[in-house]
Amino acid sequence: MSEQPARLAVPVVWSEDCLRHDPGGEVWLGVRDAGTEVPARALALRDALVAAGAPIVEARPHGEQVLRAVHDGSLVDHLAGVWAAWEKAGYPADYGRDRVVPYVFPTPGMLAGLEPHPPPALHGRAGLYCYDTMTLIGPGSWEAIRGAADAAQTAAGLVSAGTPVAYALCRPPGHHVTRAAYGGSCYLNNAAVAAQALRAAGADRVAVIDIDAHHGNGTQMIFYARADVFYGSVHVDPGAGWFPHYAGYAGERGTGEGAGANRNLPLAPGTGDDGWLAAVAALCDEAAAHRPEAIVVSLGLDAAEADPESPLRVSEDGYRRAARAAAALGPAVLIQEGGYDLPTLGPLAVAALAGAAAAHDLA
Ligand SMILES: [Zn+2]
Repeated sequence: MSEQPARLAVPVVWSEDCLRHDPGGEVWLGVRDAGTEVPARALALRDALVAAGAPIVEARPHGEQVLRAVHDGSLVDHLAGVWAAWEKAGYPADYGRDRVVPYVFPTPGMLAGLEPHPPPALHGRAGLYCYDTMTLIGPGSWEAIRGAADAAQTAAGLVSAGTPVAYALCRPPGHHVTRAAYGGSCYLNNAAVAAQALRAAGADRVAVIDIDAHHGNGTQMIFYARADVFYGSVHVDPGAGWFPHYAGYAGERGTGEGAGANRNLPLAPGTGDDGWLAAVAALCDEAAAHRPEAIVVSLGLDAAEADPESPLRVSEDGYRRAARAAAALGPAVLIQEGGYDLPTLGPLAVAALAGAAAAHDLA
């Protein structure tokens, strides 16, 4: 049987709003670069999937109940209102600051146990919710952030209603967002939103399989103390110098009721299909032991060989196989995470969705 169906039978949930987020680059090591998380990513993905015959499903607006179940309400409120407040306060017009970028961060070392005072100054408060300098907010960002979260919930709704596999073309991505802080070019955690939506719709246990090149520190920490959502990730070793630097190590196994429900398999830079797929298989075995009733795949495509943001060297066929293995664990919601090489993004996504479709005999 061919693994590549003539028409890709996986619904692609899409929100036009995802094109409205223009971060205007990223401030990396003190210098503003063009950045790679650009609107053209979403178009490259959508166009390739449509050309492969995948049906487009419009993202449906959802309320904030699920968002506020996985995130602090103050983070959601901040994201919803910060651009308008920034503009009103004159940062763009009077100071030439055309995006929201924090410059001071309430780290544990700064406060030595004190609760941070929410600063009245907006340029001070920005660092309360954002943990890096490369995740900028501008006009249209919030609409795209909500559109991505709505796409995730819509895809989860399809799967809860009996569709075996659905894909949410989320932009911006989400897996670096913790309960209370955003970063890593992510603003709301779309994968966590999907997992929570699946739980709310009746799945007793959910497994998140994260195959983005980077550790999904946000998703890990949102579910770290929970037994009902297993989180597992294969990613480039943060100990070898890679983002998110502070988390993603093998010793992080969950806490309290969540002890044992978290698994990280960090890989050496340069790892290709063999090592990566072996890790994905090990992760899937461990996830299966938690008897998940539904699966969320954090589908980052940046582990691919041509990607500028990671040193992993996974092929298109590797993505096909990995997505097939993860989707074979149960009804699956695929959530777009990273992936930044515009010429190869589309074919990689088509391969991954074809693999997931094959797991459910969809042709
Ligand atoms: Zn990534």
